[in-house]
Amino acid sequence: MAEIINAKIPLLKKGYHRMTLPFGNQKLGDEDYLHKGIDLTGKTDVSGGYDNILAFADGEVITAGYLSDTGYWVRIRHTGGIITRYMHMKKGSIKVKVGDNVKKGQVIGSMGSTGNSTARHLHFDISYPGNVVLKHGGFYVSSQNVTYVDPVPYVTGEKSIATSTATSKYTTGKYKVVRAVNVRKGAGTEHPRVMYKDFTANAKEQIKKLGGKPEDNDFPAGMILDISKVDGNFGRCPSGWISLNLCKKTDN
Ligand SMILES: [Zn+2]
Repeated sequence: MAEIINAKIPLLKKGYHRMTLPFGNQKLGDEDYLHKGIDLTGKTDVSGGYDNILAFADGEVITAGYLSDTGYWVRIRHTGGIITRYMHMKKGSIKVKVGDNVKKGQVIGSMGSTGNSTARHLHFDISYPGNVVLKHGGFYVSSQNVTYVDPVPYVTGEKSIATSTATSKYTTGKYKVVRAVNVRKGAGTEHPRVMYKDFTANAKEQIKKLGGKPEDNDFPAGMILDISKVDGNFGRCPSGWISLNLCKKTDN
């Protein structure tokens, strides 16, 4: 199968990537199944660090653990809510923990064969939040409101993961809260909540007028917000980040 030796974005130290299973519809025996990413092997000789797995791009580690199917695995959240996953790592090799900010190319662990795996390999995949319809082919939408894309063009440098605004269906501007919404310290539900005491004076004033209660620690329906930045399904207002899925744009 294809070799991606001169990959611009190394996933393995030395940039050595031999793909053993591509993305998309695969036949395994008589069964069709959807492979959400690519499987890569490195050199058999691992003495030179050939089995080191590198972070695809800057981001925040949101999973570093073990599951029976993924084996030892890491998930990294990048700009725009894009998530990369690295599976079947060698036991005891994970070098990062949840909450770590990693840099592109940083070693996060070693290739292994843990979990649902029969030979040493790295399963790598890239997903965008939501049911994103991308301009190029090679995508499918999973049942969990996540879109996986073929990682190959991203690994070879042909495409780069888009910036947050390009992957968000939302734009900046004025929004009205339609259903009570939590406020977060970052663009995602994995970030801690911002509580009422830390809301801006303007937000507290609006909550009072709308009959909201401080102990609810959320933004009630009817609040008008200035969204200055979007990242995936989240928007930033002066008090913090909120899910724009629970809001309606009012200035277009
Ligand atoms: Zn795989």
